[in-house]
Amino acid sequence: MTSTGTDQLANGGRQLDLLSVVAPVYNEEGTIEEFYSRVRAALEGLNFELVLVDDGSTDSSATILERLAESDPRVRLVYLSRNFGHQTALTAGLDHARGDAVVMLDADLQDPPELIPRMLDHWREGCDVVYAVRERREGESRFKLSTAKWFYKLFDKLAQVELEHNSGDYRLLDRRPLDALLAMRERNRFLRGMTVWVGYTQAAVSYQRDPRYAGETKYTISKMLKFSLDAISSFSHRPLQLATLLGFLISTLAFIAIPVVVILRLSGSYLPGFGSITIAILLLGGIQLIAIGIIGEYVGRIYDEVKGRPLYLVRGTRNVRQAEGSISAERGDAGTEPPLVERKT
Ligand code: UDP
Ligand code: MG
Repeated sequence: MTSTGTDQLANGGRQLDLLSVVAPVYNEEGTIEEFYSRVRAALEGLNFELVLVDDGSTDSSATILERLAESDPRVRLVYLSRNFGHQTALTAGLDHARGDAVVMLDADLQDPPELIPRMLDHWREGCDVVYAVRERREGESRFKLSTAKWFYKLFDKLAQVELEHNSGDYRLLDRRPLDALLAMRERNRFLRGMTVWVGYTQAAVSYQRDPRYAGETKYTISKMLKFSLDAISSFSHRPLQLATLLGFLISTLAFIAIPVVVILRLSGSYLPGFGSITIAILLLGGIQLIAIGIIGEYVGRIYDEVKGRPLYLVRGTRNVRQAEGSISAERGDAGTEPPLVERKT
């Protein structure tokens, strides 16, 4: 491994044998075909595979995907057994990608595939991670933009990796950082943070983020909240330390209050302090509960990891193991292409 790495550095230019483009698909019946043709047009002349992960779609996405895979063997499909969420679906796709370089992007055409050749140029010059930075974000609600801004500010303050504020998951990875990323099997995944964490040489290309081609965002407010919580808790212990800090602060206040009360009592100016006592009790109780809650978040995550469940389950694949020919997954004939239940830990 090391020797190829140094060779690559010495030689400069890299040769691309196969490019993998990975996208998660969740109820995107209105976009898939357009997405496919734009990727195909953008990668004209390149040897590529398009790995599409069906994240348990309930609309006609699966049928459309099936049709695409039928007509183009470069389209490889992975069907998850249910909806596992964006980041996990993306991981499933990355697991199945076989390229020397892998691009991950959303299937809703908010990330224009036309950017890929520019990313590849950087990769050829020796960059290992090329991430796309959005210059403008079109067609997104003010709510989404402002929550995103606050989230990145908070993440900056708390987390131990430096994240480019306007970069999403749209990025290209060389095989080495990709393997490193895939070796990280943690359950609460914040991929864009993890790709920065792995290091190697990183570069940015800028682009304008388009509005969604069709359909609606699949990120509900609760999914967004969970996502930001995952992001912060997987890259920072600060919230836990915050609890300790608050505890110390409040206890100090209490200690200061003791002589004050004694002096007031001695000087005779005694006020029946039911109100203030109640407030103090409530305040302390609240802070304790918050602290316990923060600890609970982490304990919950430890529990998740300790259980060691697979990250996702694959219901079937298509065009993934080409040598054996392509057989439909749904029929579930064991021993043929579709590994019916592929456990990924
Ligand atoms: N997605 C997914 N599983 C989910 C939610 C979303 O695979 O549970 C996919 C979705 O099909 C799209 C990408 O993740 O390709 C990004 O989702 P979306 O565009 O809804 O998010 P937004 O751009 O609004 O943040
Ligand atoms: Mg989107």
